[in-house]
Amino acid sequence: MANKHVLIIGAGLGGLCAAIKLQESGFTFTIVEKLDKVGGTWAQNTYPGVACDVPVSLYQFSFAPSVAWSSTYPQGGEIQDYAEEITDRYQLRPNIHLADEAVSAVWDEDSCTWTLTTQSGKTFTGDALIGALGQLNRPNWPDIPGLEAFEGPKLHSAAWDHSVDMKGKKVGIVGSAASAVQIIPEIAEEAAHLTVFQRSPNWVVPRRDVKTSPQEVALMMTKPDIAMELGAANRKLIYDNADYFFWQVFEWTEEGRAAYTKIATDHLHAQIKDPDMRAQLTPDYPVGCRRILITDDFYPALCRDDVSLVCEGPSSIEAKGARTSDGALHEFDIMVFATGFETTGWRWSVDVVGQNDQHLNAVWADGPEAYLGITIADFPNLFVLYGPNTNLGHNAITFMLERQVEYAVKSLQGLVQKEARAMAPSRAAQTAFNDKLQADLAKTVWADPHCNSWYKTEDGKITQNWSSHTRAYADAVAEVKFEDYELV
Ligand SMILES: Cc1cc2nc3c(=O)[nH]c(=O)nc-3n(C[C@H](O)[C@H](O)[C@H](O)COP(=O)(O)OP(=O)(O)OC[C@H]3O[C@@H](n4cnc5c(N)ncnc54)[C@H](O)[C@@H]3O)c2cc1C
Repeated sequence: MANKHVLIIGAGLGGLCAAIKLQESGFTFTIVEKLDKVGGTWAQNTYPGVACDVPVSLYQFSFAPSVAWSSTYPQGGEIQDYAEEITDRYQLRPNIHLADEAVSAVWDEDSCTWTLTTQSGKTFTGDALIGALGQLNRPNWPDIPGLEAFEGPKLHSAAWDHSVDMKGKKVGIVGSAASAVQIIPEIAEEAAHLTVFQRSPNWVVPRRDVKTSPQEVALMMTKPDIAMELGAANRKLIYDNADYFFWQVFEWTEEGRAAYTKIATDHLHAQIKDPDMRAQLTPDYPVGCRRILITDDFYPALCRDDVSLVCEGPSSIEAKGARTSDGALHEFDIMVFATGFETTGWRWSVDVVGQNDQHLNAVWADGPEAYLGITIADFPNLFVLYGPNTNLGHNAITFMLERQVEYAVKSLQGLVQKEARAMAPSRAAQTAFNDKLQADLAKTVWADPHCNSWYKTEDGKITQNWSSHTRAYADAVAEVKFEDYELV
């Protein structure tokens, strides 16, 4: 059965990468995507200021470089355009089923196939299933009493309502992390007054974004091959910098921690002159414990006369605004929630049913586990992209997606060669992989007991992040060790 058909849930960069590489390897595919467009994260997050935090020459796919970037860290809209462009470049559209949510995917033991059913009642059958649902796409609304009572517009960063005009309005924003620091400088320009509710400060390092120069554009137009060659060299430099230098923070060496604490502290001192405000913006946990923020315009925005910083979250919300623990009512016309995504728990929106009627959400109820973050015992021919323990703090997720897709393709090719129909990792291999993973994670900054983040479950198990630099991940998934699998 050389021509395996693969079902893919999700048309974010992961799902698109899978489709491209399967197609190149002679497999057929169908993508089911709940949104009405491809792009995933970048289709969903359209808030003002949304941008990539990894230099794009590294974030774009290694096999599909673009020359259309306006700066080192382009706006989200440009990455969305890139997603649309590669969809056309690789002629994926005829096999993408948009605007229909996958609700269940069931493994059939006899036929060794997956059957996927969508919200609209359509069914698709395939030999393998790729779960490219991403880690970050269900907006998290904070549990603040009275949230519903607010009379004005309430916006979430991950579901932005562009019809709401901030001009001349009093705005409150809850949150001060990765999305918030991109939104705050933009709203500050528009609003009459902006109040920022910061529950706890974050470590911030310089961004030093650079616009694509006219000379670079000229080179792209006249000598695209040379421009591509230089782009590839630049990509390697950025990759090595992230994987060798930036990783040191998370590896938790004394030297790495000291170096990045200094970079962040110097940035704070350079941009915030008021010592009281500096204290308010200094975290009480180690650098790297939560996502390090990369921005040059967040601190200057906080220093504006028309921006106030409140160093706690609202204790309650009322019709006219938000109340803090001192009883003060902060009145607003508009409230913005940059409060991230539902993460831990890994409650997939699809009911995935594997061997012996096992439901993935139940199997993962106490924290998700997979073998290499990709395959799962008792769920044959299921490949997860951006799965458990494959998030990063120091490098591009797209690098991981490419490696995971290569692994899935090699697995399917291996099945064909072996004339086998299905593969699932043995329980022993999966357990051994996770035991080693958790032992390695215990040596990282995320294991610090003072470190609370979305990377961990309530019990403190780190289920989100990979335990090392990405070179180690690439090595781990370079070959499929069929001896770790049960084949049918
Ligand atoms: C604001 C923001 C900024 C980020 N910045 C960076 C960055 O700078 N660098 C970096 O490396 N990473 C960044 N990330 C992480 C980013 O998510 C990944 O880089 C990458 O885009 C993940 O791609 P994905 O395809 O795995 O997931 P997603 O982009 O989340 O795509 C998953 C897709 O699955 C679809 N889907 C989910 N459930 C179903 C269902 N039941 N049926 C059908 N479709 C479904 C979703 O609609 C979505 O389109 C950022 C994330 C966010 C939210």
